[in-house]
Amino acid sequence: MESELHDISRIESALRRKKARTAIFDRDGIINRIVMRDGAPASPRNMEEFIIEPEASAALARLKTAGFRMFVASNQPDLARSKVAPETIDAMTAAILAALPIEAVRICPHDDGDGCACRKPRPGMLLGLARDFGFDLSGAFMIGDTWKDVHAGRAAGCATILLARDYNRGVAADFKTATLSEAVDLILAVGDARR
Ligand SMILES: [Mg+2]
Ligand SMILES: [Zn+2]
Repeated sequence: MESELHDISRIESALRRKKARTAIFDRDGIINRIVMRDGAPASPRNMEEFIIEPEASAALARLKTAGFRMFVASNQPDLARSKVAPETIDAMTAAILAALPIEAVRICPHDDGDGCACRKPRPGMLLGLARDFGFDLSGAFMIGDTWKDVHAGRAAGCATILLARDYNRGVAADFKTATLSEAVDLILAVGDARR
């Protein structure tokens, strides 16, 4: 596990102070398997391509046991591009809610040109979740696999965890881990240190 930020201790003490008990996950590449399309990481466009990561169930169960609240915030510009049907995205959301202890899934259906407040790296989805579900973003973790997740998390005041992948080399985050299970180890270690 590798920490890139110089002021990790500041983040850890802030999380302890806030009694961090919230985790916000990106969807594609974190909760479900990334789809490689034309050599680039992409989003699933049908239920055959939508495969929940096998490790997600046990990893999130550990956070649930520790009392964490969990949410998903996902850019889905394929909606704006008419590459995926809204019903398909809804079915993916339903599959996540059925399989994992996630309270809510937020989707940004826009593309860059729409200028919305929700498309990551903007923090709109995170701010909306905090408002609607009543938690403190400065006591939350944002876990993702792109710079947009990290920037959205930072803009919202969260601690950020990047799952290191070939396609996100060079992206800086507060913490980097190789797997979702390791990210959960890290979150729980910060929480445990607080007690
Ligand atoms: Mg992703
Ligand atoms: Zn949006």
